[in-house]
Amino acid sequence: MEISITKAQGHSLKPKPADESKLGFGDIMTDHMFLMDYETGKGWFSPRIVPYGNLSISPAAMGIHYGQEIFEGLKAYRGKNGGIYLFRARENFVRLNNSAQRLCMPQVDMGLVMDGLKKLILLDRDWVPKSKGTSLYIRPTMIATEPHLGVRPSNAYIFFIIIGPVGAYYKEGLNPVKIYVESRYVRAAVGGTGEAKTAANYAASLLAAEEAKKKGFTQVLWLDAANHRYVEEVGTMNMFFFIKDELITAPLNGSILPGVTRDSVMKIAADWGLKVSERSLPIDEVIDAAKSGTLKEAFGTGTAAVISPVGQITFKEKDYIVAGGKMGELSQRLYDEITSIQYGLTPDTRGWVERIGE
Ligand SMILES: *Cc1c(COP(=O)(O)O)cnc(C)c1O
Repeated sequence: MEISITKAQGHSLKPKPADESKLGFGDIMTDHMFLMDYETGKGWFSPRIVPYGNLSISPAAMGIHYGQEIFEGLKAYRGKNGGIYLFRARENFVRLNNSAQRLCMPQVDMGLVMDGLKKLILLDRDWVPKSKGTSLYIRPTMIATEPHLGVRPSNAYIFFIIIGPVGAYYKEGLNPVKIYVESRYVRAAVGGTGEAKTAANYAASLLAAEEAKKKGFTQVLWLDAANHRYVEEVGTMNMFFFIKDELITAPLNGSILPGVTRDSVMKIAADWGLKVSERSLPIDEVIDAAKSGTLKEAFGTGTAAVISPVGQITFKEKDYIVAGGKMGELSQRLYDEITSIQYGLTPDTRGWVERIGE
């Protein structure tokens, strides 16, 4: 399928951020977006790159009423010799298709969306920031658009990709965050939609996060829905605990989002000879390890923040300091390794990065 391109002209071009060191996260979008439509019986049609702008959808669009919405988050990096690099981008679209399957939404064609993404980035290449720690955030999204009230899968969808320059995800940057172990609310239950990147999961998480923020925490650490006992994820990140000489993360049992960064951390740590375990980890084991001093480090992983070290865990109103409240050695080493792969600075032995232009 041919992707048509309509360029934004003169006065509709937006000013680029003047000071890259002040870039936040998620507020600035570039001049263009990729868009295509779907109808049952017809499939995807009209793939196009058009000036960034508002969508026009019916107020009866089923996605608004019944939550058929899925998204992805990945980045492009301005790296070695001014090149623009993508990191494991296909895996994001594989995950998008898995989310689509769970939400009864149509599959996208890998070749087409990768082509659309690369053309979009290269058209807006001057928006890919150059400073250390900055990148271009990429948000592919699909939403049901058929105007119909009544619960069933929609027969019409749009898929779009918007992109924008970003700095650090948390205002803390690489400074350790304080997390609150949530023992009342739950994020996702096994059998539900926790492993899909779908809007409802985030709506469900807001109240707990807001209450934790009021108490001075950055994020909540979710426990499993059935027992309120096993650690799952933190906010929009997968979670790792380094106890004694074992790096532990929760298994992908259906309620956890299968993070690309999680997978990268596991592979890199295993290549370094570390013992990496995917296993159910009771919060009591974490707290006991914190008390006895064997909890060496804890950190979250995700595309937005890469590695987010945890400096304090609060459980049942008691505070436990982790790694002296500083970024641990392993967290730092993983952050350095992953970011240098992403920016094309370290030889890519795993086939994870693709240089798409400059
Ligand atoms: C996106 C996301 C992650 C991180 O996934 P990455 O592929 O590493 O960016 C983890 N948990 C949740 C709930 C997420 O939405």
